[in-house]
Amino acid sequence: MEKKNIDWSSLSFAYMPTDYRFVAHYKDGAWDEGKLVKDASCTMSESAGVLQYAQTCFEGLKAYTTKDGDIVTFRPDLNAKRLQDSADRLLMPQVPTEMFLRALDEVVKANAAWVPPYGTGATLYIRPFLFGCGPVIGVAPAPEYEFRMFVTPVGPYFKGGIKPLRLLLSQYDRAAPHGTGHIKAGLNYAMSLYPGYVAKHQGYAENMYLDAATRTHVEETGGANFLFVTKDNKIVTPKSDTILPSITRRSLVYVAEHYLNMEVEERPVSYTELKDFQECGLCGTAAVISPVGEVDTPDGRISFASGMEEMGPVCAKLREVLTGIQMGEIEAPEGWIRKIC
Ligand SMILES: *Cc1c(COP(=O)(O)O)cnc(C)c1O
Repeated sequence: MEKKNIDWSSLSFAYMPTDYRFVAHYKDGAWDEGKLVKDASCTMSESAGVLQYAQTCFEGLKAYTTKDGDIVTFRPDLNAKRLQDSADRLLMPQVPTEMFLRALDEVVKANAAWVPPYGTGATLYIRPFLFGCGPVIGVAPAPEYEFRMFVTPVGPYFKGGIKPLRLLLSQYDRAAPHGTGHIKAGLNYAMSLYPGYVAKHQGYAENMYLDAATRTHVEETGGANFLFVTKDNKIVTPKSDTILPSITRRSLVYVAEHYLNMEVEERPVSYTELKDFQECGLCGTAAVISPVGEVDTPDGRISFASGMEEMGPVCAKLREVLTGIQMGEIEAPEGWIRKIC
């Protein structure tokens, strides 16, 4: 198979239509088989559930070319499960794990020419999503749904080295108690656009959100979970019902415990503890782990000991091991790697 003529290492994180996408339709209580199509557009009722009442949720994962030239994905069973959890909360039909994995295998294989080669730092980003396409006008779940999965090549997240980020402690909230913070719903992103705009406009990379009920505990950013390193080399990661359970964060915790023999605490993290941490990282599929150097708050600036010059050593080690597992350079735990072709 001939690869597309793309300058892989200069790609950014932007949408580029590729040759095929998977589409399945849900109607009268059942999914059809689903199939690959070439058309990148969706056609639906003007009164579709997704357009009127934001009935939609999504996932994000990547395909990698390993050192041996295989195309693989990382823990896609967890993405399938999380999409089911999101669907339940939004009264949408679950996409069976079998269909999710079949769609993944088919869409990645059909677009193999778009999977960046090993060593370029680029990867194939995969976007599964589910939305109400049938008409509603009274507030109700849609009568029909579409499940789609497309892929798009994305460049190395950190071009020209990894520089620590500066965050803004947001005056807005991301997720209400007993709300939808724990699912990957499009609506969580729609309402974070304005706070994100405010932060970026002031020169910050991201918002740090606190828990909405008490505003005393650290939750996450708009799209990544926090992981902290204490001065005595323990990992601490916030525990809360309103955080989206990041697969990257869960995998990094496993790596810390089982590959690096580190102690990990998953517990509520008070905002007042921040100043005592050595390192801070943001975990998500896009960047694996991004270092945070500073957080600006109404009470002044909090600086992590690792500083604004480079990534701290623990975050760097975690990143090295996890990307090594994804690229087939380090042996993966059982079941983490799904070989596509
Ligand atoms: C997707 C997402 C993450 C990261 O999850 P991964 O599975 O690691 O990609 C974190 N927070 C939010 C709010 C998200 O939507």
